[in-house]
Parts: sequence; C-alpha cells; structure tokens
Amino acid sequence: MSLSFSQLSCYKRCPCQYEYCYIKKIPKGVSEAEAFGSAIHNTLKKWGESEIENGKLKIENSEKQLEMFAKEIPSESRQLTAQSLIALWHQSCPTNAYATRFEADAARMRGEQLMELFYTWWSERPREVVAVEKGFSIAINDSSQNQPLQKIILTGRFDRIARTPEGLHVIDFKTSLPRTQDDVDADLQLSIYALALQQDFGELPTALSFLHLTEDGIVEMHTHRSEGQVRDSIKQITAFHGRMENKDFHPTPSLMVCKRCPYRGICDVAAV
Ligand code: SF4
Repeated sequence: MSLSFSQLSCYKRCPCQYEYCYIKKIPKGVSEAEAFGSAIHNTLKKWGESEIENGKLKIENSEKQLEMFAKEIPSESRQLTAQSLIALWHQSCPTNAYATRFEADAARMRGEQLMELFYTWWSERPREVVAVEKGFSIAINDSSQNQPLQKIILTGRFDRIARTPEGLHVIDFKTSLPRTQDDVDADLQLSIYALALQQDFGELPTALSFLHLTEDGIVEMHTHRSEGQVRDSIKQITAFHGRMENKDFHPTPSLMVCKRCPYRGICDVAAV
C-alpha cells in the first residue's frame, strides 16, 4: 500500500473524512487558505532553487578564479533581493481562488507582507540549501498485522533541506499559526521527515523545524528526533495502516476538526 503524509494526517484527523476523500473520492475543492498556502510554497520553492543555483555558481566561479589566478569573473548570480522574492510571489499568487476582487487583492497584499518578513528572516540566517521540494518514497515493513507481512510505501516531500555546521536541517513552511512546543515535539509529519531523511541521506537530521509565516512575524519552531522516536513513529504509521486495511472509518467529530472539514455538509455526525 502506498501512503502519503496527507493521507495519514487526514486519517488521524478523522477516519470518516479519510474515507470520504480517499476511498469514496468525493471531490472537495480547494479552499482559499489551501490555495494561498500552496502559492506561498510555490514561491519559496522557486526562491530556494535560486539559492541552490547561486551556491553552485559561487563554487564554479571560485574554481574558475583559482584557474585564472584570481582574475575577476563576471557574476551571473540570480538576484536574491526582496524585490525579486515579491516578483516570484506575484507569479505564483492565485487570481481565481477568491470569490471577489477585494479578497484576491487582500491575499496578494498579505503574501507581499509575508515575503518581506521572510526575506528579513532569511537575510539574517544564511544557510546552505541542499534541496527544495524534494520528493521521497520510502518502504516500511508492517509486521503488526497477523499475516502476511506487508510493505507500506510512504511518500512525501521535504519543503527545504539545509546544511549547517551541525548537520542536516529539515524545514517545513506553514502559513498557519504556531502550535505548542509539545505538539511540535510529538508531530508525526516531522517524525516522517526524520525517517525519510535517514533512509535517503543515511543520517538523522540534527534539527527539524516548522517555519510559520504569519503577519506578526516569522516563527521557527525547532525540534529533534532520536532513533527511538523514529521507531515509535513507524509503530504509529503501521497502526494507522492496520486500521485502514480493516476499514475502520469511524468518525471522530470535534468542533475544531469538523469546522474545517470539507465534508461537514454531507456528514451526519458533524459537530458543526
Ligand atoms: S464533519 Fe467531522 S465527523 Fe464528519 S467527516 Fe468531517 S471531520 Fe469527520
């Protein structure tokens, strides 16, 4: 069975929502918040690609300079300025995701503000970016079922991997408000990133972060994962997988979850 983090996260929120979305495949559309978040991710992906490209050009130029006895080489670097970041935002900003022109303008301006805040944050924390929007697909053996042993293919995508003097650092961008440190320390998404990085790069990340882009500022919530915590996350994933295989789609309504559920209009037990 192939499982994405989005599927796991949906199942964890409410198994019934998972059934509507991934089993019955009832269309749910894209909310304004999802369209906005996706455009921010797209902008930061392009920005990250420029960072990687610039890093490579710097290395190539310094090698050429060595060859030519420090002769000046014209810089071909892409411009990494606040203006170029906002220009990338304007390219990605959705125009047809909003009901009115007023809402579309408000989203465009909010994005500009977030990009300015991100640029200031980024300028003060130079890091070597090694990958952006890098997909992964890793295999996990599910031995929790009786028989036979099943393989789960877990898929996902790293928003950004940076190299620091301490090791590899995984960063996930969020346009939502920060959660508590306890939530971040126990977050399954970050545990999956640690597991995937270990399989892909052969080492656990030295840091994992949610980078929240909010109008009040950029908030980076750091955490770590040990080998033991990664093993625990495999147990969690296989437990969810077992319940999915057993077609356990019992709803778990709550005000918090149901108010954001795209199926609340057709769900008999919605809490809103
Ligand atoms: S409305 Fe609530 S209970 Fe119903 S599917 Fe959505 S999240 Fe689950």
